[in-house]
Amino acid sequence: MTYEREREQMIADIESGVALTRAMTGRDHLDPRVMEAVRRVPREEFVPDNMRASAFRDGALPVGHGQTISQPYIVALMTDLLELSDDSIVLEIGTGTGYQAAILSQLARQVYSIERIPELARAAQQRLGEMGYENIETRCSDGYLGWPEKSPFDGIVVTAAAPEVPPALLEQLKPGGRMAIPIGLPYSHQELTLVTKDSQGKTDTHDILGVAFVPMVEGV
Ligand code: SAH
Repeated sequence: MTYEREREQMIADIESGVALTRAMTGRDHLDPRVMEAVRRVPREEFVPDNMRASAFRDGALPVGHGQTISQPYIVALMTDLLELSDDSIVLEIGTGTGYQAAILSQLARQVYSIERIPELARAAQQRLGEMGYENIETRCSDGYLGWPEKSPFDGIVVTAAAPEVPPALLEQLKPGGRMAIPIGLPYSHQELTLVTKDSQGKTDTHDILGVAFVPMVEGV
């Protein structure tokens, strides 16, 4: 199965998601390079075997350990918000399946990704290695602390919801850098938030869209 039709349908669904949320996000299209990355990364390889046919539906899917692979539209939007270039160094918190990391790897020089659940971290590392993504490094640790040895980062994407921006992540964001993070408590309102840091180190936050993410959990 190559799932070409399903993949095109997913792209169309992302484009209609973008159109439907234009008033909130201020975007009527995403960077074509982001859409190209979504086309290129085989989403079916990141979901459990028995869910391959559902991999392209524009929704989140369960991937075990109470976690989910995020909705394609949200993955694309968060990637777009980072405005990456070929030189960018990116940090992801919440590797999960590795899908978002694989998308980021198409648009950045190097991706670092942290997952706190050892089984997910191990499976993602193996999958990304077998699939030949060479510019992604993963580790199993507490994302609240970031990855200081590899900082500062041009972009940070957090794929679990935190009650507030973790201070270590803010610190590890480069001046001129951008962070996309869902802020809010589990099962209550969460706001996908864009945090920008200017060249003087002054930060600003922008509300983008209401979202529903699994919680960011402190500690491993
Ligand atoms: N980006 C993933 C989906 C993320 S689901 C993908 O593309 O498949 C959110 C993930 O964040 C879960 O795997 C969860 O275990 C992880 N997580 C939650 N709190 C964390 C923390 N403090 N540090 C690192 N990972 C965390």
